[in-house]
Amino acid sequence: MDEQDLGDILTSVRTFVRERVIPLETKIEDDDEIPMEIRETCKTMGLYGFAIPEEFGGIGLTMAQEVELAFELGYTTPALRSLFGTNNGIAGHVLLDGGTEDQRKSWLPRLASGEVTASFALTEPDAGSDPSSLTTRAVRDGQDWVLTGSKRYITNAPLADVFMVFARTNPDAAPARGISTFLVPADAPGLSLAPKDHKMGQRGAWTCDVHLDEVRVPAENLVGGQAGLDRGFRTAMRCLAHGRLHIAALCVGMAQRLVDEQVRFAREREQGGHLIAAYQLIQGLVADSVTDLYAGRALARSAAVAFDAGTDATVGPSTAKYFCSEMVGRVADRAVQIHGGAGYMREVAVERFYRDARLFRIYEGTSQIQQVIIARGVLGDAARG
Ligand SMILES: Cc1cc2nc3c(=O)[nH]c(=O)nc-3n(C[C@H](O)[C@H](O)[C@H](O)COP(=O)(O)OP(=O)(O)OC[C@H]3O[C@@H](n4cnc5c(N)ncnc54)[C@H](O)[C@@H]3O)c2cc1C
Repeated sequence: MDEQDLGDILTSVRTFVRERVIPLETKIEDDDEIPMEIRETCKTMGLYGFAIPEEFGGIGLTMAQEVELAFELGYTTPALRSLFGTNNGIAGHVLLDGGTEDQRKSWLPRLASGEVTASFALTEPDAGSDPSSLTTRAVRDGQDWVLTGSKRYITNAPLADVFMVFARTNPDAAPARGISTFLVPADAPGLSLAPKDHKMGQRGAWTCDVHLDEVRVPAENLVGGQAGLDRGFRTAMRCLAHGRLHIAALCVGMAQRLVDEQVRFAREREQGGHLIAAYQLIQGLVADSVTDLYAGRALARSAAVAFDAGTDATVGPSTAKYFCSEMVGRVADRAVQIHGGAGYMREVAVERFYRDARLFRIYEGTSQIQQVIIARGVLGDAARG
């Protein structure tokens, strides 16, 4: 995609976010739901397929371009991006990265159009930061695979038509080696959903547990076919690296919004006969937020360029996710502080973003896991002792 086309997409997404979605933020928070007309507009704008190649009906953005789009999407409630985040990101990439040609042709156009919503089901009650210890198992039975286990906190599960389920296919292999990925339709007999999780923030984005009780899928639902057998863990790690850059850029978008909110408030609020913007201690908070924002934006951009060039698919994405998710937490905290008591009130945007931002340090690998990846990436074998 050339610069002109990308510019047009970014302009239309910016207009959509600011004119259509931001006015609905309070309603989305109160209803815990993105209105249907917003979902439909996302489909017509191609947002369900921004990272899916054009040959499969998507927009086919590079990572560097996707980062620019995520800056725009991050400017409003993260629930918006969550709607189509799994189709483009961790779930869609499982097929792009590891699927057979038939699987890609059959599923990716439907993911790109939004006809189908896909979820990425890796985490389990006892396997989060260390997914290699997952215990969901898939056993071959004739022409089928039979899956049993439970998945936890699965984004979009209440909406999903299909799950990318990671299951152990070879119990004798080393933990990270005997795992495969399966396409499991949501209506498969034996698959059931728990009630929606009650989260701290990001209302309008839904998660829940997914239970698989002897769910039978045909052999062609093994992602990658026979070539994909026992390769699920590696596929998951590659998809997560892409997702981490995306999350980093979303954090930058949210930080921009929080800077704009704190600047606006500081320019309007008066205390002691002066605008609070005139107080140097407030200026210090604003300056630290802007500096954090600039650093996060530069890091997300440069890590995306290295990812596209194939020169860094590990350390760069983790540094970006680690820094930007921690950074937006600091910026949100300062935004609340600058708002004083108003910043603690439910109807004020910065209070909502303060809660929403907290998740970014936890999912798609906690900050501690990013530290481990970064350190191992540079220390090599020495990090293992
Ligand atoms: C809202 C939400 C949406 C999610 N969506 C999805 C989804 O769509 N699909 C999916 O598969 N998963 C999803 N997850 C799961 C998410 O990725 C995990 O919650 C996350 O990876 C952490 O795992 P855990 O919750 O089991 O915490 P734990 O792994 O139990 O971690 C607990 C603490 O121990 C620390 N810790 C763990 N291991 C180490 C280590 N080796 N070194 C240092 N510290 C360590 C952690 O950093 C953390 O502080 C979602 C989670 C949430 C909350």
